[in-house]
Amino acid sequence: MGYALTYGLIALLFNSYLIAHLYGNLSLHFGQVFVIFCLITRGLKPAALAALIGSIGLYIETHNPAFFINSLIEILVLYLLSRRGWVLLIADIVYWLLIGIPITYGFVTVFYGISSSDFIQVIMLKQLLNGVIVVSAASLLLPFIPRRWSNLEVKVKLPKLSYRIFELSMISIVLPSLVITLILSNNAAKIAEEQVSELLGVQAEHYAEITNNHLTFHQRMVDNLANTFSWQIYDSNHKLELLLDSHSQYPDVFSMLITDHTGFVTHGAPEDFEKTLRELPREEKMVDDRLYYQVPLSRNTHYISDVFQARGYGNDPIVAITAPYYESDAFAGIVQATLNLANFKKFESGSEALDVLVVVTDAKKQLVYASDALGLERLTEFKVEEVEQVYTETLPLLALNDSFYLYKKSITDSGWRIFTLSTPDTLIDAYRSDFYRLIVSLLIIASIVLLVTRRFSKQITRPLENIVKHFAANDPIPQKSRSVYSSAEIESVRDQLQQAQFFMLEYQRTLQQQVEEKTKELREANEKLAVVSVQDELTQIYNRRGFNQNAKNAFAVSIRHATPVTLAILDIDHFKNVNDQWGHSAGDQCIIMVAEEMKKRFKRDSDFVARYGGEEFVVFIAGGDVDVHKRMLEELRTNIANHEVYYEDTIISITVSIGAYSIVEDLNISYDKLVSNADKLLYQSKENGRNQLTMEKQ
Ligand code: GH3
Ligand code: MG
Ligand code: MG
Repeated sequence: MGYALTYGLIALLFNSYLIAHLYGNLSLHFGQVFVIFCLITRGLKPAALAALIGSIGLYIETHNPAFFINSLIEILVLYLLSRRGWVLLIADIVYWLLIGIPITYGFVTVFYGISSSDFIQVIMLKQLLNGVIVVSAASLLLPFIPRRWSNLEVKVKLPKLSYRIFELSMISIVLPSLVITLILSNNAAKIAEEQVSELLGVQAEHYAEITNNHLTFHQRMVDNLANTFSWQIYDSNHKLELLLDSHSQYPDVFSMLITDHTGFVTHGAPEDFEKTLRELPREEKMVDDRLYYQVPLSRNTHYISDVFQARGYGNDPIVAITAPYYESDAFAGIVQATLNLANFKKFESGSEALDVLVVVTDAKKQLVYASDALGLERLTEFKVEEVEQVYTETLPLLALNDSFYLYKKSITDSGWRIFTLSTPDTLIDAYRSDFYRLIVSLLIIASIVLLVTRRFSKQITRPLENIVKHFAANDPIPQKSRSVYSSAEIESVRDQLQQAQFFMLEYQRTLQQQVEEKTKELREANEKLAVVSVQDELTQIYNRRGFNQNAKNAFAVSIRHATPVTLAILDIDHFKNVNDQWGHSAGDQCIIMVAEEMKKRFKRDSDFVARYGGEEFVVFIAGGDVDVHKRMLEELRTNIANHEVYYEDTIISITVSIGAYSIVEDLNISYDKLVSNADKLLYQSKENGRNQLTMEKQ
């Protein structure tokens, strides 16, 4: 939140005060740079807030909400695309081309009402350039933002190397050239505008001079005629003759007339007018209400009127030029000539470099003449509606019938105003062409740079990828690069990886050997352990655990097949005495002898013999006849009793007592029960005097 506010306020500051003015009212804004910082380091939401704050200044200045919308959507698009591994520059160009420019177009046409499509194009191209410059600046400065300002949760997919190189090249080469070209094209536009300004000024002066000359030329003619009348008194016919003669010599003169001292029109030229006059009633031939009569009368001076509507003869807008004449030093009347204002057209010369339109007004701002293209009505008041400068730097701009014109003004001696006008199109057109050229070259350069960088990055990455591929697959890395694009650094990586691979493979091999050895040892140890854990060390027959494991299984199988089973427990009689008398080793020999005898007698796979603990043994017999079991056990007992053990110098004889229990029919008995039954029977054998077999069957 703090970051969003800070970045937003800096953006606002930049947008409001640190503006690069371009041509006309165009300018570049840089606040968005900080919004992009906020986006990259803090994420989308803070950046959106910063974007809104940053746009406030622009909105207040222009009342155009497009800034909010563009700024927000730009941030959103940059966010989405950069997460997909796009570099900012490409993402931003795509944004402006596809979204930003259409939005700008919509808002500019609605909010500014700018009709010049050329200028709208310029505005849109400017936005694109602005975006490119801002994003380039942001990308350029991003590495300088301390890492601890970043929110590490903001994750971006890393762009490809080729895009990184593209971005770097564009920023380092294209951005500066873009700025320089922009400055140059601004200067060019300013120079062009100065030329237009000068041309318009010269033309305005020129027209003012023509107008002055035109008026004085005719003024002089009227003066001369009046002087002629003053010097010599002519009769009426003679006056008319002179009047008609003058009129015929001055083609721009629409009509002429002479009055007497009361303002009564006595004669008119041309003939038509004279004829018309003759038919008019006297009161309609009075011009004493006209200024062109009153001024010469009262001030004894010639006079050029403002524009007015003719009456009596024709009804065109005309300007009257008058001079008083005298008879015997007394005011005798005026000589008047009217100029047909439409004739001004012949003075319109225009210029090859520029289409110049002209407007001439009299001192009362009444329209005397206007170029046809302007479609203005004469004798109406010509109001200059100054418009805020949009297209130009210095030239004033006026609005006429919804069109805008650059203009210059000049004033004639008689206070008439001359306006020379030119549409700003020529200027904008040149500027727009510059912009297009700029953008097109930018796009072309960008495409070339993109191609080159892709190739370039492939040159860097492909040899590396090859090496790494071999490395990862544990294939030996080839000695020499197959790619001609390899470089010293890559070859150094290859050497190091080759060494690393060698050591790794070597290490793997020894490791594998060691593992194999250890596994073998372990397996043997396990096997030994398995045997030891079920075998009695002294007698090499099963111990209790081994017996139980095997006998239990065999017992279950016998139950399933309903085969008879006998379990016998043997215990050496008075064994304590043996130990006591001849020593423990002698005892051990006896134990070994018993085991030997048991092994001898019970060899079948289904038979198990074991040392059950101390001087106790067990036999498990399955299958066959129980009586046979009994006989075998009897034999075992006698064999043991008869087997003499030679120990040192003595001969030892021992006997065993046996308890045996057989199952023949009722198989519903547990293994433990079988054992405990046999044990009870052993006890009986002991009770009954030892060295005997007690056997029961179910
Ligand atoms: P009984 O006829 O009642 O079985 O008398 P006994 O002496 O055999 O009975 P007792 O259970 O009192 O004595 C068993 C003796 O077996 C005690 C012990 O010293 C001896 N003994 C047990 N295991 C071994 C062995 O592994 N080696 C030797 N030498 N003697 C053992
Ligand atoms: Mg015992
Ligand atoms: Mg015993």
